[in-house]
Amino acid sequence: MDFKELDLSQELLSAVEELGFTEMTEIQQESIPLILEGKDVIGRSNTGTGKTAAFGLPAVQSITDADGRSAAVLILCPTRELAMQAYEEIRKFAKYKRSVKPCAVYGGASMERQILQLKRGANIVIGTPGRVMDHLRRRTLKTESLRMVILDEADEMLNMGFREDIEAILSEVPEERQTVLFSATMPPEIMALTKKYQRDPVLVKIKSPQKTVESVAQFSFEVAMGRKTDALKLLLAAYSPSSAMVFCNTKKMVDELTEELVKSGFRAAGLHGDMKQAQRTQVMNSFKAKSTAILVATDVAARGIDVSGVDAVFNYDLPQDNEYYIHRIGRTGRAGREGAAYTLVTGRRQLYVLKDIARYTKAEIREMPLPQKAEILAMKKKALAQEIAEVQEQPSQAAYDILDELEKQGISPREAAARLLSGRISAEMISLPEFDIPRPIRKGRRDGANTVKLDLNIGRSKRIAPNFILGALADATGMSGRDFGKIDIFDEHTTVEVPESECAYILDVSDSMKINGYPVTVKLWTGPSSKDRHQKPFKRERPDRKRSAYGSRGRREVYQDYTRSRKKRPKNKH
Ligand code: ADP
Ligand code: MG
Repeated sequence: MDFKELDLSQELLSAVEELGFTEMTEIQQESIPLILEGKDVIGRSNTGTGKTAAFGLPAVQSITDADGRSAAVLILCPTRELAMQAYEEIRKFAKYKRSVKPCAVYGGASMERQILQLKRGANIVIGTPGRVMDHLRRRTLKTESLRMVILDEADEMLNMGFREDIEAILSEVPEERQTVLFSATMPPEIMALTKKYQRDPVLVKIKSPQKTVESVAQFSFEVAMGRKTDALKLLLAAYSPSSAMVFCNTKKMVDELTEELVKSGFRAAGLHGDMKQAQRTQVMNSFKAKSTAILVATDVAARGIDVSGVDAVFNYDLPQDNEYYIHRIGRTGRAGREGAAYTLVTGRRQLYVLKDIARYTKAEIREMPLPQKAEILAMKKKALAQEIAEVQEQPSQAAYDILDELEKQGISPREAAARLLSGRISAEMISLPEFDIPRPIRKGRRDGANTVKLDLNIGRSKRIAPNFILGALADATGMSGRDFGKIDIFDEHTTVEVPESECAYILDVSDSMKINGYPVTVKLWTGPSSKDRHQKPFKRERPDRKRSAYGSRGRREVYQDYTRSRKKRPKNKH
């Protein structure tokens, strides 16, 4: 559906056209007509689907000359960056509509200037809940004339602890108003909010069949503990992105990593919530202008940030939430461009977390070895050769003069060029960390690795079968059933063969495991007790390689074998 089909004024349609929007996104198509009609709307859709325009266009459309200088629309956003971004976009929509007077209010920026702006008159106010509350208390922002309130990224605002502020604001706004709420998720707290403050809201839910961003190629690298910074430097050197975002889980890590990257000569800058607003704005502008190549950020600081032309996203720390992974990699591959996401993984546990992310996002995340220095050198050589081959301009006379001069000193043009090139190469290769030749990562049971036995304090007396044990273990560890070996079920306990390399990990993650509702303790098996000797264990033969090559069908047959053999088993005589 084209924007032209909407009931929007010509002023807005021209602005939209200038922005290069032609087709509406799904959420826009569904929600803009409803909001224009005056309905309360709950909009749910993923990041990057154009929600700002979905509420921004109707907001701008609703402003008339009669609004003058009093606040008619209030837009609440979780972070300063998002408020600024929404403000910028609203300004663009209102380019040809003089009656619209937007104003952004957020913490960390000069209060006086905001007060001045509000005094001069603003009919669309965009702000963070905390600062909006501030202005309400000072009566520098008045609610009497508000007729539309928009909550953008409502779930994130609640996550950030803005609930009280939001409720205080909403209860001050005249009841005769339109309330529009956008959120990526719909937890019960959001539903409670909509119930309390919206009137007959219409739910607009855009299903995303593919969770992940298709245009982003995704890779992971297993890195030894304590070597993530080196690995990141290596990857940055190998791929030399002209614009990249690096995500860390803590503000402290953002600071440390930024400092380390800058020290190594990368054009990097950090972004997180503890920074002064002026500094944050400066960092964002420099990143948008591509003078900062690498933006190191926390999830919250970077949430929803829309910068075009980001080539790559690096997950320095694994995201704490599957949704965050999607948000992060959604910063690249925007607007039909290709992007890449690189995730660093340390330790086996994180490998399983990443597997879970891949499952959740339905993405293929390819495991890759870290590039070798020699490979990077080869890439640089090729790139440099190409760069020189593609030079269009005629070299200057001054350059030839220098070569002539050098030749008189016995330095040939070939030698001179080599000296220049070697300077370029060593500048780019210097301080590249060394990594050992990568070894294959996974040493599962299938590869003939050593095995040990674990002992679970649950047995036949609790009516369990091998697949219960396998299922619980696979669940707790994220490993595949095939990674486990022989299972022997005794009356009161069970032993399971596991790869030695996984043993510590399995013990670590299986502490709150339940099987058939019974809490189970897992320990290293120290040999049979006297009671066991008289019992014939219940044997689970491992599917052999040929068999497991048939995939799950082969395995299901094995399970059926258990059931059959269990039925045939004579009752225990002890
Ligand atoms: P969200 O808030 O859902 O994460 P944004 O509103 O930030 O998404 O929009 C993401 C990007 O898509 C922005 O750069 C925006 O200008 C652009 N955009 C929005 N709507 C359209 C459209 N209909 N056609 C093309 N680009 C659009
Ligand atoms: Mg948004």
